[in-house]
Amino acid sequence: MDREQELPENRASPTDTMAVSSSAAAEALVSVLDRVHRAAERSSRVPDKIRLVAVSKTKPVSLVRQVYEAGHRCFGENYVQELVEKAPQLPEDIEWHFIGNLQSNKVKPLLSGVPNLAYVESVDDKKIANRLDSFVASIGRKPLKVFVQVNTSGEESKFGVEPSGCTEIAKHVCLNCPNLEFCGLMTIGMLDYTSTPENFKTLATCRTEVCKALGIPEEKCELSMGMSGDFEQAIEMGSTNIRVGSTIFGAREYPKKSSS
Ligand SMILES: *Cc1c(COP(=O)(O)O)cnc(C)c1O
Repeated sequence: MDREQELPENRASPTDTMAVSSSAAAEALVSVLDRVHRAAERSSRVPDKIRLVAVSKTKPVSLVRQVYEAGHRCFGENYVQELVEKAPQLPEDIEWHFIGNLQSNKVKPLLSGVPNLAYVESVDDKKIANRLDSFVASIGRKPLKVFVQVNTSGEESKFGVEPSGCTEIAKHVCLNCPNLEFCGLMTIGMLDYTSTPENFKTLATCRTEVCKALGIPEEKCELSMGMSGDFEQAIEMGSTNIRVGSTIFGAREYPKKSSS
């Protein structure tokens, strides 16, 4: 099949068509979207209800732009400084997701540096929720959408609230943070993918509890789960928001720690 025909209708008109049609990242995007559709169909889900966050961390703006020009608008980053540097160099209609650990003192640079920040997926305590809430109010921007991050793998290196604590934070966001919009729960599965089915199941169980406590239907509580190695499985297990980096942008290279 001609890959070109699978590109979304609304793709922006690229300034450099040659570069776009030969972009490996743009082709990888199309292939991921295709896999999303198939996984959705296998599990009788509506593909349009599954959001693909293209995770561009460590990747240059030029590469992000190629994926943008292929029609994609939703991108994720997990380092504040990197996002604050990249966002102003990219179109304003990008919907940015912040998916990394957020420290209180970074809320201000993040929100003032990225007006088109749509989501923070990594709220894992009341303090950061309060800080986000009051800063959103102080700059008068529209409510910020948030996910509560849950540590479903029990790995100490992972951020996120324990499953038993997710309801309390979700409640806090809903009841005490008028400038935040509670969207759902997020998790990172076991990094070697060995127990991601259990991690995903745990997140779905958390959702049941949260929805019961808040008196909201499950459709009002999204699940952000699934990365390059397990997004199809995540979709089959109910994910509504997948975060895919290396399968779109290529493997990441981290610079060796140097004297910078
Ligand atoms: C880096 C990252 C991803 C994407 O990981 P890939 O395996 O490259 O798809 C997803 N979620 C979070 C929170 C990340 O930090």
